[in-house]
Amino acid sequence: MSTVLIKVNEDECIGCGNCLKVCPVGVYKIVEGRSRPVNEDKCILCRACITHCPKNCIEIGFRASPTLARLYEE
Ligand code: SF4
Ligand code: SF4
Repeated sequence: MSTVLIKVNEDECIGCGNCLKVCPVGVYKIVEGRSRPVNEDKCILCRACITHCPKNCIEIGFRASPTLARLYEE
């Protein structure tokens, strides 16, 4: 599973395709008129998609590793 977690707020996304155009590694795909991150594991954290999104509806974070998650549970 990818460590990078990308979320597109589907209620806000207008499907303009800017994130697809600027992403150097092809993370996004337009599905039913909205952007969907389909290759999160390829993300190099350049933030170009966030900078070019006119609706400010992309968030990038990190998933806790299974080991870290276990530590927090204990
Ligand atoms: S941060 Fe860069 S590499 Fe990652 S999804 Fe956005 S544009 Fe693509
Ligand atoms: S740049 Fe923003 S509004 Fe445009 S398709 Fe991507 S997520 Fe949606």
